[in-house]
Amino acid sequence: MQDLDISFRSMLLEAVAQPLASNADSKVLLLSCIDYRYPQRITETMEAEGHSGRYYHLAMAGASHAGNQTAHSGVWHRTLFDHLAFAVNDANVAGVVIIDHLDCKAFHLYEGVPVGDLDAERRRHEEIANTLVREIVSTFPTLAGNVKVLLLPKESKPDTIAEG
Ligand SMILES: [Zn+2]
Repeated sequence: MQDLDISFRSMLLEAVAQPLASNADSKVLLLSCIDYRYPQRITETMEAEGHSGRYYHLAMAGASHAGNQTAHSGVWHRTLFDHLAFAVNDANVAGVVIIDHLDCKAFHLYEGVPVGDLDAERRRHEEIANTLVREIVSTFPTLAGNVKVLLLPKESKPDTIAEG
């Protein structure tokens, strides 16, 4: 758990560094899954590193999954791109960091990935993420070079294996 936090923190900071350096007021949009494990970590990392006021956080189930045009009759995709348009055109957002995670219920339910098949799930995250990054950059060319998707590993949880 502690190792995961350290690597998550360093990956997130590396991903936001370039867009935040583009000008003194630039911001990043962070898109995470709604999974309860992530919002607090994101806030703690960004605040601890002095990035207070330099980021917006949008949470949608499955993170990159929200960019899948064929799911949910396109409604989640439309919501995501409406937020991106606001962020880029009206709120000085210079970069987007999307935080996916393995063992994601949205990928099981909506992307057809069997529960527990982490290799298949990783491949699906990569497909969705690559398509989404291309669409974001073609829709918002000023973001080119500053769009990144991170995939967090499955977390190990303590199991009770005996009790009496
Ligand atoms: Zn999830």
